[in-house]
Amino acid sequence: MSRRPFVAGNWKMHKTASEAGPFVSELAGRVPAGADVAVCVPFTDLATSVEAAAGTALQVFAQNMHQLPQGAFTGEISAPMLLDLGVDGVLLGHSERRQYFGETDAALAEKLSAALDAGLDVILAVGESEGEREAGETESVLERQVTVGLAPAGDQVVTIAYEPVWAIGTGKTATPDLAQEAHELIKSLYDTRVLYGGSVKPDNIHELVLLPDVDGARVGGASLDVRAFSDIVARSRQSAV
Ligand code: PEP
Repeated sequence: MSRRPFVAGNWKMHKTASEAGPFVSELAGRVPAGADVAVCVPFTDLATSVEAAAGTALQVFAQNMHQLPQGAFTGEISAPMLLDLGVDGVLLGHSERRQYFGETDAALAEKLSAALDAGLDVILAVGESEGEREAGETESVLERQVTVGLAPAGDQVVTIAYEPVWAIGTGKTATPDLAQEAHELIKSLYDTRVLYGGSVKPDNIHELVLLPDVDGARVGGASLDVRAFSDIVARSRQSAV
């Protein structure tokens, strides 16, 4: 499996289209040629971001999509709509989508299948909540999320992001042992690149990317700052072996 790190930011519901253009231009200028770097941006920022990243290594991803190509689904966006804008891929299964919008593993499997069929790259996010970890359910939760969510993938390339819910936006990062253990389990279920997500910052990326089964990072808060995010990208490349 390639050790070339993949770093993917997620702006969540931040930045207007007017803010996204200059931000992405500056960020794209700092992404080295040949690096695997993506930003997952709100739907309204996709067109400007694709334009600003054109001709650079920076990839632009959506944060969600509907599983059907078209239809009576007010407020939804489909894979063909994303492709038509020149979007590279889509983040699926972020814990906020699972928690606040009721996305189930079965629904995510349908989305994943539609995204892959359309030719979009996919990052599937998985991870246990604090309660699930405390109840000793981490392994079974990850097994379910990976096996059900990735069932339609066959041998197609899908990136997985392991994001323990208790580490997202809390400043708590999984210890190296705990992250390594979860990544190893995920890779035993689906052999692919697995990114770590949960309070990744410039000062902790080094110890994470040094772990044998951590292949990059999914970055939330720190991806809203060009300098912090490009530092994470640079450090992940120095540290990865
Ligand atoms: C996230 O949004 O998935 C995330 C990992 O956020 P943060 O880096 O801010 O913890």
